[in-house]
Amino acid sequence: MNGVIIQYFHWYYNGNLWNEFAENTEYLKSLGITAVWLPPATKCNLGTDGRGYDVYDLYDLGEFDQKGGIPTRYGTKEEYIKAIEKAHHSGIDVYADIVLNHRMGADEAEKIEVHEVDEENRNTVISDTFEVLAQTKFTFPGRKGKYSDFIWDHHCFSGIDIVRKDGEEMVGIFKIHNEYGTVWTDDVSHQFGNYDYLMGADVEYRNPGVIKEMKNWIKWYLETTKVDGLRLDALKHISSGFLKEWITYIKTELDPDCYVLGEFWKDDVKKITYFSDKMNNLISCFDVPLHYNFFKASEKGKDYDLTQLLKGSFMECKPASSVSFVENHDTQNLQALESAVQAWFKPLAYAVILLSEDAYPCIFYPDLYGAEYTDTQDGKEVKIVMPKIEALPRLLIARKQFAFGEQIKYFDDPNCIAWVRMGSDENFGCVTIISNGAESFKEINLGKRNAHLKFKDFLDHRKEEVTTDEEGKAIFHVNSCSVSVWVKSDMI
Ligand code: CA
Repeated sequence: MNGVIIQYFHWYYNGNLWNEFAENTEYLKSLGITAVWLPPATKCNLGTDGRGYDVYDLYDLGEFDQKGGIPTRYGTKEEYIKAIEKAHHSGIDVYADIVLNHRMGADEAEKIEVHEVDEENRNTVISDTFEVLAQTKFTFPGRKGKYSDFIWDHHCFSGIDIVRKDGEEMVGIFKIHNEYGTVWTDDVSHQFGNYDYLMGADVEYRNPGVIKEMKNWIKWYLETTKVDGLRLDALKHISSGFLKEWITYIKTELDPDCYVLGEFWKDDVKKITYFSDKMNNLISCFDVPLHYNFFKASEKGKDYDLTQLLKGSFMECKPASSVSFVENHDTQNLQALESAVQAWFKPLAYAVILLSEDAYPCIFYPDLYGAEYTDTQDGKEVKIVMPKIEALPRLLIARKQFAFGEQIKYFDDPNCIAWVRMGSDENFGCVTIISNGAESFKEINLGKRNAHLKFKDFLDHRKEEVTTDEEGKAIFHVNSCSVSVWVKSDMI
C-alpha cells in the first residue's frame, strides 16, 4: 500500500485543531492520506500559548483546570478522542506526538545540590557543587491524583536550566546531584560533549520509578486514546537503553502493531543509521539529510546537481525505516531549525517523496492548506506567507493511482532527472520528470509492451499528448523549474 502521513499542524496554527481535523478526514482520505501525525495533546507549561513540547502533565489531555484552563492549545480531551474516532472511521491511522525528554512548569521548588556545566561541553564542570532552590516538584494539584498519584521530584530529573541561590536567579545548565550520580547518562548523543540536556527539567531515565511510571502512562495513553502509533520527540537527548526497553514493552505487552517514528535530528545518514541499528529497527526515523538536500537544491537553483538529490539520504540507505518529508514545524521560516525549502522547489521535492519506490512520505499541513503568520525576529515583526502547493493534491492522487511497480531511474543530467514506475501487468505506472533549469526532455524507452500508447501530464503543466513508437519509446518534456507526471491518457 502506498501510505502517506500528513503532519496536521504547524508551529503557528491557531484555532481548535482537533475539531478542524475531524471535519477534514474524508477529504484527506480522498487524497490517499493513510495516517495523521497530530501535535502533543498533553497540557503544557504555557497553557494555550504552548505548542505541547513544553510538557507539564502527561495525564492531562485537556481535562483538568491546570495552567490557565481546561483545554490545550488544540482543544479538549473529549475533542481529541472524537477526532481520533473520526480518523478511524475514515480509515486513517493516528500517530500521537510524545515528548519524553523533559518537563516544564513544576508546582513546587525543592532544595537540591547541583553544579553548573559549560553549555558548549556539558562534561566540563564550571562551578563547585552548591545548594539551590529549583522547580523540580510536580504534584499536579488540579488533577488530584486521578489516573496516577506519581509525584515527580528531583530524583526524577538529571538537570535543569534555572535555579535560585540566596534569592538570586541563575540561568545556565545545572547538573542535579541525586542517587544516580553527578554525571549525565552516557547513552545519548555526544554533541556538546553530552546532549542529555535539551531544555526544562531533564528526565532521569536511570530512575526505575520513572521507567515504571512511563510504562504505566503509555498503557493508559494507548487505552484512552486508541492511537495507532507514536511520533517520538527529541530522541538524541534520551537514553537509548530506556527507549529500547520502553518501546519493546509497548510492542510486546500493549500493541505489537504500534508504529513508532522517531525524531533523531542529524544531517548525517551514518548517525541516523547507527541509531536505527542500535534500536534493533524498532522505530522508523525521519529522513533529515533528504530534507537538507531539498533545502540546498531550492537555494541553489540550476547550480544544484539533481543527480545527487538522493545522495546521503536515509531513504537510499535504509528505505524500510525511513520517513521522508519536505518541511516541518521546526524547519518552517522563523523556527528553531529554519531551513525552509523554497516554494518553487516544493512540487519537485514532493514528486520525489510521493512517487519514488522506497518512500514513506509525510506531507506538511501548510503545503496542503497554506498558512500565514507573524513572529518577531531580531526585534522586528516579520510576516510569513506559506502558499499552498497547488500541485500537491494531484501528486497525492498520482501516488495513489500510478506510483507502483518496478522503478527505473534516469539520473543522468544535473538539471533534469526522471524516473519510471512500470506499474502492474494491467496498467502502466508513470514517468516523473523534473527540471531545476531550462525546459528540458528525456527520451525514454518503456519497452514493446508499452508501444503505441498515448500519454498526458497528470499535473497538466505540459499540454501536449505524447505517443510511444513501435518500440515503446517517446520523448517526455518538462517545463523550466517544474515537474511533469506522464501517465496513460485514458487514465486521466
Ligand atoms: Ca535528556
